Amino acid sequence: MTTVDESELRSFLHEHTPKWITEQEASLRVIAFPLTSELHERLAPFFGDTLADARISSVPMSSPAWYSDLLGRGVDQRDLLDFSNLVAITFNTAVNLLPDAPEPTMGLLFHEFVHVLQYRLLGVQEFARRYVDGWLAGKGFLDRPDLRYVSIPLERQAYDLQARFAAAPDSAFSVEAALQQETATA
Ligand SMILES: [Zn+2]
Repeated sequence: MTTVDESELRSFLHEHTPKWITEQEASLRVIAFPLTSELHERLAPFFGDTLADARISSVPMSSPAWYSDLLGRGVDQRDLLDFSNLVAITFNTAVNLLPDAPEPTMGLLFHEFVHVLQYRLLGVQEFARRYVDGWLAGKGFLDRPDLRYVSIPLERQAYDLQARFAAAPDSAFSVEAALQQETATA
């Protein structure tokens, strides 16, 4: 058995995650729905035409099948983000909400659409690379997956904008402009 070191794990995740995201997006889009006109109207002032192509589904999620290969090769389970219990997850244009979770709040949906926009600005490849790097950089939170998760810069950005929305839900701002500004100053 060969043990996978951190740089091998990083390369593996960089290589396999974009493909996994694209596959998840494709299979979810088959069963997903466009936003209701009510939801679209509520969020369009923030997201513009990004919402037109977004789809929402609600099915159980699993982590990638190749996690078991990695575990078999000695990777610490705590180094693999568990996608199966997230209340919501976004694969490019497809937002999936965990069934049996409480009714999603407008704030949660806002957060997920920030991810849709991040994907659109970065592309799937770059989004995945930044997400993986952000996750791996949080090794200090090995036993606190919740903190490790929110320390990922793409997540922090989504939580910050979600908070800005929650603080003033009627003050429209361009999420795209906010993201671009942050990218420019980062
Ligand atoms: Zn998120």
